[in-house]
Amino acid sequence: MSGSPLVARLADPPPGLFASASPLKPNSGQGSSSSTPRPQPTALPPTAAAAPPTLDVAEQMNEEEKRKYIRGKKLGEGTYAIVYLGSVRADPGARVAIKKIKVQKEYKDGLPPDAVREIKHLQELQHPNIISLLSVFSSKDQNLNLVLEYLPLGDLEMLIRDADSVHYGIADIKAWMGMLTRAVWFCHENYVLHRDIKPNNLLIAADGEVKLADFGLARGFADPHQFMTSTVITRWYRPPELLFGARHYSGAVDVWSVGAVFAELVLRNPYLPGDTDIHQIELTCRNLGTPTEENWPGVSTLQGYGAIPAEVYPVPSKDAFRARFPIGADGVDLLMKTLVLNPLRRITAREMLMHEWWAASPKPTRKEDLPTKRGGEEKMGADLKRRPGLVEEDRGKKVARKLDFGGM
Ligand code: AMP
Repeated sequence: MSGSPLVARLADPPPGLFASASPLKPNSGQGSSSSTPRPQPTALPPTAAAAPPTLDVAEQMNEEEKRKYIRGKKLGEGTYAIVYLGSVRADPGARVAIKKIKVQKEYKDGLPPDAVREIKHLQELQHPNIISLLSVFSSKDQNLNLVLEYLPLGDLEMLIRDADSVHYGIADIKAWMGMLTRAVWFCHENYVLHRDIKPNNLLIAADGEVKLADFGLARGFADPHQFMTSTVITRWYRPPELLFGARHYSGAVDVWSVGAVFAELVLRNPYLPGDTDIHQIELTCRNLGTPTEENWPGVSTLQGYGAIPAEVYPVPSKDAFRARFPIGADGVDLLMKTLVLNPLRRITAREMLMHEWWAASPKPTRKEDLPTKRGGEEKMGADLKRRPGLVEEDRGKKVARKLDFGGM
């Protein structure tokens, strides 16, 4: 298959941006097994070389790293960090995001686990659809700062919600889903579970590329015998095995979240917006069927299984899905396979990339032609005839679009 989405293009950090001597990145030339070596160290700017001579080597390296960046305005705030815009001292036009980890009382003697996870996994994963970690340094009071590539066009949630000015169709959804699926496939190939996939964690680069971000809940899953926590993944995107408290699970948990994002992109509303965990189980059963020993052998042994609703709902038919999700037969087939109740029968990220939907018409929109919030007004004229929230099946036929999986 030419242009196979399985062949990942490797990340090209903007010139001059890559930190070569981050104290927390001793192997910054080594990525995951399939990555190319990182760019060679760039010469330190005069200011960066001027660290006080009294510092020990590690402190001096940290000082040098810190001085490479200038922190600017606040961009946003998450549960464990504040994110600032930053610039590169040696190249003030180059922008970065600086994620300053909040000091948490309970982790006074060590680093917050979310930050450790984020650094550990982002160091290992270099892929065009995964946010790049450029450097790490500590600032005063031992505050940890992660320097990340700057992704200025917001996130997928902003696009989904802004139905008044952001109009999109199947070809656009296919492009976004392709980028998300490739990111998840790459994580799983490298034995990393993201465990918090949702539209708000899919940030958009200036060129339209979608990047999976926020690896604060990620973990490795190479050891199948290890117990894992079931209280991960934002509720609306949480699969039934986690709702029932499973302590052993696989990449199938992320695939379910990918399916929930897919459904949300089409509906322009969250697909399973549970208010509580019990409500989430109820919504899941109502919309996707009640898990039973017939459709999921062993499910009744899961500790939380008792929370299923009294009424047993059937697994919906393909026709029922098609009526709710007007994305064509192939699109519905893929969507349904991501939302299979039994995790062992759910499609894998690798299998998703082999699905016929990607090659079917319409072709995925080129990333530079994707709708953005910024470009919303410019696209308004062309989009006026389209009703917000409706996915047009034939848009791709009218516009000549090349099959493009991000230049892979
Ligand atoms: P987080 O703690 O990763 O959820 O980030 C909090 C907020 O900061 C996000 O919702 C974004 O608005 C913003 N943000 C995070 N990372 C970046 C980035 N690399 N580029 C631009 N904005 C970002």
